[in-house]
Amino acid sequence: MDLNTIEALVPTADPAEWREGDAWLGGGTVLFSYGSQTLRRLLDLTSAGWEPIEEDDDGITIAATCTIARLWQAGDPSGAMVARWPGLGVVRTCCDAFVASFKIWNLSTVGGNIATSLPAGPMTSLCAGLDGVATLWGAAGVREVAVADLVTGDGRNALVPGELIRSIRLPAHALESRTAFRRLSLSNLGRSGVLLIGRRDVDGAFVLTVTASTRRPVQLRFAAGALPDARNLAAALDDAIPAALYHDDIHGLPAWRRDMTYRLGEELRLELLGGERAGGDHGDPALDHGEGA
Ligand SMILES: Cc1cc2nc3c(=O)[nH]c(=O)nc-3n(C[C@H](O)[C@H](O)[C@H](O)COP(=O)(O)OP(=O)(O)OC[C@H]3O[C@@H](n4cnc5c(N)ncnc54)[C@H](O)[C@@H]3O)c2cc1C
Repeated sequence: MDLNTIEALVPTADPAEWREGDAWLGGGTVLFSYGSQTLRRLLDLTSAGWEPIEEDDDGITIAATCTIARLWQAGDPSGAMVARWPGLGVVRTCCDAFVASFKIWNLSTVGGNIATSLPAGPMTSLCAGLDGVATLWGAAGVREVAVADLVTGDGRNALVPGELIRSIRLPAHALESRTAFRRLSLSNLGRSGVLLIGRRDVDGAFVLTVTASTRRPVQLRFAAGALPDARNLAAALDDAIPAALYHDDIHGLPAWRRDMTYRLGEELRLELLGGERAGGDHGDPALDHGEGA
């Protein structure tokens, strides 16, 4: 779509240059498909030339302008990066969750996906699931916000006007973990209705990140000494996700999203905790929690 209100394309990543009527431009797949009657300028972040992915002993930094195609390369299961950081095993499944066209795959950016803040944003899922911390640049300076807290609702986030996502830092403790992924959609090539990432950290902790079924990311953490059995996990989901937090749109009813969250959460618990289940197995929690609660 033509954005015919645009008067200028400005190559900058300097928040001091932002003014009312401006939008940061990543891949443009949202900006050019949703359209706008109010935007006057696009501030092109891709002109900054940020290195897409940087690695050091403490983790990985993903530039906001890193494309989905570039990230997918880093998630190569036989590649050096995944060998060093097994937590990256969920990169490709998250990229694939876009069910994306050529354009989305090659142009859309990690930062643009998180800033769009759709419940089904797979880069939000990935970065929240790996305890990613976003570095934000704004007129008031630099700040850091966990990705799990940055997205606050359907199309809502904690960015203040003019603030941009510079990068996402994935810390070593999450990258060293064993990860597992579950996703469901109502149709074969449909948008995610439920997307869960489970993590088993080196210190034995179990972390479950719920996205897509909920309006914003929800994370459950269990220390090595307090690993959940099926009933504990279901109770923790009860506590963490009130009924109103389940998302409701054409990609899934809240009751279905809720039931599938319990089911997939239990699958991840069994996969990552295996025989170490604390307190015995009390059965399928999905059966204990009827629809519509
Ligand atoms: C056919 C189709 C299918 C799609 N399917 C999905 C899907 O399944 N899941 C999903 O989540 N999305 C989907 N989208 C929406 C969109 O393509 C993605 O969210 C994409 O990742 C957005 O990235 P982008 O770089 O193209 O963002 P842009 O279009 O460049 O920007 C999107 C918004 O984010 C802002 N922004 C961009 N980068 C930054 C930054 N670094 N800091 C602050 N603000 C920034 C922009 O100002 C704009 O408001 C789909 C779109 C289409 C057209």
